[in-house]
Amino acid sequence: MRSIDASLNMELEAIRSEGLYRTIRTFFESQGPRLQLDGRDYLCFCSNNYLGLAAHPAVKEAACRAIEEYGWGSGASRLISGTMRLHEELEKKLADFKGAEAAIVFPTGYMANVGVISSLTGSGDLVVVDKLNHASIVDGCRLSGAQIRVYPHRDVSRLERILKGAAKYKRRLVITDSIFSMDGDLALLDGIVKVAKRFDSWVMVDEAHATGVLGANGRGGAELLGVEKGIDISMGTLSKALGGTGGFVTGSAALVDFLRNRARSFIYTTSPPPASCAAAIAAINMVRKGPNLRVSLLEKAEKLRRGLCSLGIDTMGSQFHIVPVLVGDAGEALKLSRQLFEKGVLAPAIRPPTVRKGKSRLRLSPMATHRDEDIKYLLEAFRNVLKG
Ligand SMILES: *Cc1c(COP(=O)(O)O)cnc(C)c1O
Repeated sequence: MRSIDASLNMELEAIRSEGLYRTIRTFFESQGPRLQLDGRDYLCFCSNNYLGLAAHPAVKEAACRAIEEYGWGSGASRLISGTMRLHEELEKKLADFKGAEAAIVFPTGYMANVGVISSLTGSGDLVVVDKLNHASIVDGCRLSGAQIRVYPHRDVSRLERILKGAAKYKRRLVITDSIFSMDGDLALLDGIVKVAKRFDSWVMVDEAHATGVLGANGRGGAELLGVEKGIDISMGTLSKALGGTGGFVTGSAALVDFLRNRARSFIYTTSPPPASCAAAIAAINMVRKGPNLRVSLLEKAEKLRRGLCSLGIDTMGSQFHIVPVLVGDAGEALKLSRQLFEKGVLAPAIRPPTVRKGKSRLRLSPMATHRDEDIKYLLEAFRNVLKG
């Protein structure tokens, strides 16, 4: 056996023995609330396609029209010849949607976080992050070379203490998820903004899961909490509620101009296909049409959460459309997920390193397009599994 394979197989064996081995499940259709797998029907409660826009007729049509006009690939990076009318139109649309001076689109949300954090901060600067921030934020911080300080989840007074002692840094950047991706709770943005201003620090909010869902206009957690003006850097994805692919940042014209010049994950990569921009524009138009989809999503989530709580299940203080079911042990979480799978429910176990050891869980995410019967079915499945 090759040395590389022997070494990797040994490590894979260790991963297996901890119950942390991961496999990929292949689907043959788009992420709807109902899916077929090996000829059997399943209810899907694990998609981030929260509003069902990934396969919405208006979104599909916009993408198809763009392919007819532009073909598929963009052929170059944004600063060479990879910027077409649709890239520009999407960035204008995003700035307008978020009420910001300007917007910049990245190929993925992951790349947005990595590019923004690593270009805005470097050695001599401080980044302060919530313990449960998304991996892409963690990676951006590591790449930046800035000093990293972590505060316990949603602990604003600890953040304050860190910033109090941070006058020696050139720049201070506080970064938080708005809705946390695995816990489903919301950052205390009001407190964070106040403390950050007091200590001359910048605030960056990752609205990946809140874009299109929270706030009167679907602009995210900062809109819901009325603190949009206090956010310096707002990041979001086109890949969750907006049903497409890509990441974006909105903020001042200076911020966006700087990122165009310095964010390496924007500069040194091929620009997104124009059709992907067209799909995102159509999806934003759907979100701006009115609150029906997001209201329906949040109602489904509330029904689901109330049902789970009445079964004695710990949903970890989640409030919105991400509903964790705390199990604890990784093996037990996997077992529960398998039992639900046998009943026709897709609800994968989330295990370390995605969540902390002893905090393994199922992560349920309903969709606006689920029917009330679907939620009932899921609750019934839980009831049966817990009884058995
Ligand atoms: C999914 C996610 C990202 C990455 O977005 P992609 O567009 O999927 O790359 C970033 N931050 C958070 C909080 C996320 O949940």
